[in-house]
Amino acid sequence: MTISVHGLAVSRGIAIGRAVIVASSRVDVAHYFIPVDQIESEIERLRQARNAVAEEITKVQHSLHDLGPNDAHPELTALLDVHLMLLQDEQLTSGVKHWIIDRHYNAEWALTTQLEVIARQFDEMEDPYLRERKADLEQVVERMLRFMRGVASPVAAGAEDPRHSGDGSAEAPLVLIAHDLSPADMLQFKQSVFAGFVTDVGGKTSHTAIVARSMDIPAVVGARSASHIIKQDDWVIIDGDAGVVLVDPSPILLAEYGFKQRQGEVERERLSRLKNTPAVTLDGQKIELLANIEQPEDTAAALKAGAVGVGLFRSEFLFMGRSGNLPDEDEQYQAYCRAVEGMQGLPVTIRTVDVGADKPLERGVSRSGEDHLNPALGLRAIRWSLAEPSMFLAQLRAILRAAAHGPVNLLIPMLAHASEIRQTLALVGRAREQLDNAGTPYGHVKLGAMIEVPAAALTIPLFLRHFDFLSIGTNDLIQYTLAIDRADEAVSHLYDPVHPAVLHLLAGTISQCNAQGKGVSVCGEMAGDVSLTRLLLGLGLRSFSMHPSQILAVKQQILRCDTTRLQTWAQSVLAAEDPAALMTD
Ligand code: PEP
Ligand code: MG
Repeated sequence: MTISVHGLAVSRGIAIGRAVIVASSRVDVAHYFIPVDQIESEIERLRQARNAVAEEITKVQHSLHDLGPNDAHPELTALLDVHLMLLQDEQLTSGVKHWIIDRHYNAEWALTTQLEVIARQFDEMEDPYLRERKADLEQVVERMLRFMRGVASPVAAGAEDPRHSGDGSAEAPLVLIAHDLSPADMLQFKQSVFAGFVTDVGGKTSHTAIVARSMDIPAVVGARSASHIIKQDDWVIIDGDAGVVLVDPSPILLAEYGFKQRQGEVERERLSRLKNTPAVTLDGQKIELLANIEQPEDTAAALKAGAVGVGLFRSEFLFMGRSGNLPDEDEQYQAYCRAVEGMQGLPVTIRTVDVGADKPLERGVSRSGEDHLNPALGLRAIRWSLAEPSMFLAQLRAILRAAAHGPVNLLIPMLAHASEIRQTLALVGRAREQLDNAGTPYGHVKLGAMIEVPAAALTIPLFLRHFDFLSIGTNDLIQYTLAIDRADEAVSHLYDPVHPAVLHLLAGTISQCNAQGKGVSVCGEMAGDVSLTRLLLGLGLRSFSMHPSQILAVKQQILRCDTTRLQTWAQSVLAAEDPAALMTD
């Protein structure tokens, strides 16, 4: 029977495939396919891991035994017996082999997949003693994974899908189902085999959702209990446009969604013809369409979509998931240079590191004892940079050096105070000085500030005095104006881009920049939402920065617009009590 699970639509399109359930704690396990001739050696890696863990446990058992009857801990001895038993468990062994032999999963992936299958069975057990054995199984698997980390598979992750080689009989696509995915996990999945994903938690503009959009794969977040309802290997349809997940779909539904999927492909193909068409409105207004990127390699997609520059390089993705080992100046410099070279002479706007809130440096790691604090209001973005001046100076030097290789703009996130502006500018000056003293070449950068906090939007003249351009981060501006955590699906219905308060801050920022002839763009998700393109044009916006995957659809909309007419209409939307009601006019 088909079950439908509802969540938030975050990344368009339809994906149809078999579910791969991944526990949140294990999303960093490598997922890749192994070639057929590697099956035996992959099973051997598993066997070695199992033997090594069994040996470890036996050794502990012996040492306990040597302690003599008075010091031996009977509970521990019994526990170790259980662990040994679980290690030899037929269901675990044969299940893991099945995933390797029949699905060509690498050993770690096969092991965690089978763990999920058995863990579900434990969850359903009546007997609390047996139910608790799930934790033991998890520990045993964790030990095997730890062993395997030291014995890497000869097959490189990210290699081509070997299932598609040979007789050409491609197997079913796979979709990922997880309770939660951090933005850093998402980056890992960028190179992975999944055709779509679903998470139980997350808001529409959470960074996990943002990376999904940049990957251009169908995704639904905030689907609450999806990871419990969906079972390993279930057939699933992800409707990324409607925010619906269909589990175990009937043949009729499969046919219907298969048709929709092909229609989507035809539409993309049609849009791709607009790549070289200039983004000019019917009344001759030239509109700048820029790309948001997370990694230097994303510049290829930006150029492919016809972007005329990068409007937002979220540099923090270089800093995440590195176990505290942050990239040094040279590593950053190389990365920024790759982005600059990738854009072939078009400008690249590099935003200084914006970690914190829903972008922790490490998954699940918060500063100890501070779980009761709200990280969105804490030490994030520029606040963190100013608290870590040597880290910040290294980043500034790396960006300035990269600017010697092509046009670079430097963008600062989340400024709100004049003192923060002064400190930031002083550090930019200091970074230049350090490069001068060292005789290191660097280039000129235009300096920009993000308007993401109501306090900033209400003091635009201050920002215009100090910066060359402004970029409106609507994701955060909405979050902070409406007091809605952008990553919390429980309040996502209140996250309203056309709330009159948001529109007034947006309109005021755009008009003040335009009046002074200073560049202003929107780089939040509003810029890539085609249902808002007309409104933003009507409010005077001429520069939009968004994921490459959204550029052509927004361009199509722009080509149909007349800004003089939109201007009057936008004023009526701005004055309305319920602007959303006028949006379809
Ligand atoms: C924003 O807040 O709109 C923005 C572009 O920055 P981020 O989404 O990375 O916080
Ligand atoms: Mg932001």
